[in-house]
Amino acid sequence: MATIKLSSKPGVYELPSYSLTGDLLGYLRCGLQYRYTRIGKMPSRAPVQLWFGNFIHGVLDEGFRIYDVERKAGKSSAEALAAIDADVVIETIESRLAAQGLVAWEPWLKTLGYARARVGLGELAEVLFPLIHRSEVRLTGARELKPLPPGTAFREADRYEMVGVIDVVTDIELSKPEVASNPIVKLVEDCLGKVPDHFEVIIDYKGSRRPALPPGKPTPKHPSLWDQYEWQVLTYADLRGRQPDAHPVKAGLLLYVNELLPLASDLEELRKEVAEGKTDIGASEKDIKAWLKVCRDQRKEASAILDAATGRDGAAAMKASLNLLPSPVPWDLRLKRALRIVPVEDPATGKSRIPDALKSFDDVVEWIETCRGREFHSGTIIKAWDRNSADEGTCAACDARTWCPDFSNETKPRLPAVKVAP
Ligand code: SF4
Repeated sequence: MATIKLSSKPGVYELPSYSLTGDLLGYLRCGLQYRYTRIGKMPSRAPVQLWFGNFIHGVLDEGFRIYDVERKAGKSSAEALAAIDADVVIETIESRLAAQGLVAWEPWLKTLGYARARVGLGELAEVLFPLIHRSEVRLTGARELKPLPPGTAFREADRYEMVGVIDVVTDIELSKPEVASNPIVKLVEDCLGKVPDHFEVIIDYKGSRRPALPPGKPTPKHPSLWDQYEWQVLTYADLRGRQPDAHPVKAGLLLYVNELLPLASDLEELRKEVAEGKTDIGASEKDIKAWLKVCRDQRKEASAILDAATGRDGAAAMKASLNLLPSPVPWDLRLKRALRIVPVEDPATGKSRIPDALKSFDDVVEWIETCRGREFHSGTIIKAWDRNSADEGTCAACDARTWCPDFSNETKPRLPAVKVAP
C-alpha cells in the first residue's frame, strides 16, 4: 500500500530585530548600559538628553506638518512659514512629552530647548522645509547574521532585521530655481562635486554640538561618534534607496541642532578645537572672543528672569528663551557647523561607501548576539556584556555606575603599594 510521508512543521523562527539608533548606537556607547536600559528596560533616573532630543525632533516635525498643510492649501512658502507660531508649537510638544512622562526638570534646560526650537522654526525652517519631501520615513531590511563563536549560540537565526526611521527625506530637483539657490543644496553640491538633476539627501537630527574630528586611528570596538553617525546615515541611504518611490540618494546629512544656537560653553570648546586643529569648520580667535562676550551677557539676562520666577515656571522659560536670541554668530557659519554632509559615493573614486558601513553594523549585531549568548549560557550579566568607560559623560550619567566594575576602577582611591621584586 502506498504511503505518504508527511513533513513535520518547522520550528518557530524569530528574526532578531535591531534598530540602528536604539540598539546599535546604544550598544556602541556601552554594552552593559545598553543591556540594562534597552534590553532590561531599566528606566533612566535623569532622562535629560532624552527630553532634549525628543523635544527638538517633535518641534521640527510639528513645524513641518503645519508648513506642509499650508503649502497643500495653495499658500506660498513664505506664507506657510509665517503660519508657524513657535510659542504654540513649543507648548504643544512640551505637553505631548509631559503626557509620556518626559519632562525637562531643569528650568535652564527648558529655556535652552525653547531657544533652539525658535531658531529651528525660524532661520532653519526657511531653508530646510522647502526641501522636505517626507518626514519620519520608516525603513526596514534583512541582513545575514554570521554564526556566533563556539559556545555562545543560543537561538536559531541566520538573518537579522535592521530597522530605522529617517527624520527627513529631501527631494532636490535642480531645475527648480528656488531649490537650486537654496544654501543647503549649495553646501551639498560643493561637497559632492557632480550631482544628478534630481536626487535625494536624507537628514538625521542630532541633539548635540558638532563633534571634534576623530583621532587618527579608530579602535575597532570603540569607534568614534564621528564614524558611528556616518555608518548610520549611510545605512539609511542604503535602506531608503531600496524603497520604490526613492530617487538616487546622494548623501546623508547630520544636523547638529546645538550649532543652530551655540552657547558660551560651545564657543569655548570651539576655541579649543580650533587651537588644536581638531575641527573642520572653525572661526578666528578674535571673532570667537567677541561672540563669547555677547553670549555671556545674554545668559546673565536669561538667568535673571529664571531666578525671579517661582517654581518651575514654564512662562519664565518661554520669556527667558527670547533673551538668548539673536545669536551673535553669523547664520552662514552656524548652518555650516550644523550640517555634516556624508557623501554616499567617495568623491575622489566614485566608489560606494555603503558596503563598509553595512559591514561595520553587521559586526556590531554579531557582538550584541555574542553578549546575549554569553549571558544565556553563564547566567551572569556583568561578565557577559562588553563595557565602554571611554566617555566620562556617559559613565557620569549612567545608573549602573554604582555597581559597574569599570566605573569603580576609574574612580576608586588607590593606596601606595610596594612593588614586589620578581
Ligand atoms: S558606568 Fe560606564 S562602563 Fe559602566 S555600565 Fe555605565 S556607561 Fe558602561
